[in-house]
Amino acid sequence: MTRVRFYRDLGLTEFYRRPVDQVLMATLAAEVEEPEPAPQNFQLSESQEEQPIPPRKPFPTAPAIADAVPAAERAAAMQLIREELGECTRCALHKGRNKLVFGDGSPAARLMFVGEGPGADEDAQGLPFVGKAGQLLNNMIAAMGLKREEVYIANVVKCRPPGNRVPEPEEGATCTPFLFRQIDVVRPEVLVALGATAATWLLGTRQPLAGLRGRIHAVRGTKLIVTYHPAYLLRDPRQKKEAWADLQIAMKELGLKPPAKG
Ligand code: URA
Repeated sequence: MTRVRFYRDLGLTEFYRRPVDQVLMATLAAEVEEPEPAPQNFQLSESQEEQPIPPRKPFPTAPAIADAVPAAERAAAMQLIREELGECTRCALHKGRNKLVFGDGSPAARLMFVGEGPGADEDAQGLPFVGKAGQLLNNMIAAMGLKREEVYIANVVKCRPPGNRVPEPEEGATCTPFLFRQIDVVRPEVLVALGATAATWLLGTRQPLAGLRGRIHAVRGTKLIVTYHPAYLLRDPRQKKEAWADLQIAMKELGLKPPAKG
């Protein structure tokens, strides 16, 4: 299962009973140039629970992009979405929920992160990315020269999937219209998809993560960068330098420079 989870994090979700194409695998592994090492503060090294492979089903079409909301009205617009969600029972995930995890940060952020779904810590606190993966995300944000309060953070689904499994297509399809509305309110200059699940739901198509990284995509009138999920980086810290290379693409778009050391 560990290997399956590893491949899923890379965005490789289709498996066949035939010999591995060594040439293809070598090409995928060599696709990204050797980037600079990640800053020291990308540190943490614990593994997380394993998750099954999501079933293959078509993705629904994303709703039309909503009109821009003036920066001063974005907090109220976000609150309206939260109120509309209410004590949501639209999908089965609500049954195991402790707290719904709506989102966190500035509704007028220039940078927005999208993860997969709440884990145990997030479910307990009602806030996204507050566990170990969240600590690493906080370090990544700080390495970019930003404070967590300056960005906006949300997930594909707002309720914790049992055992931290990948959201089922029906769950994602039910919940992502609210995520898209949040994106439309924030209208970030750059969106960062954390991992294959976020990339899949934002792009509306399942592709290997290796082929999505290292370039800028367009989603809902916004630039999208795809990188590894922090939980994956906890399991394989060697990939932090690759994630840092992805974040540097976002930083360049935002005109950000890493904070001076010391
Ligand atoms: N992993 C996620 O994808 N989202 C969270 O909020 C926490 C962990």
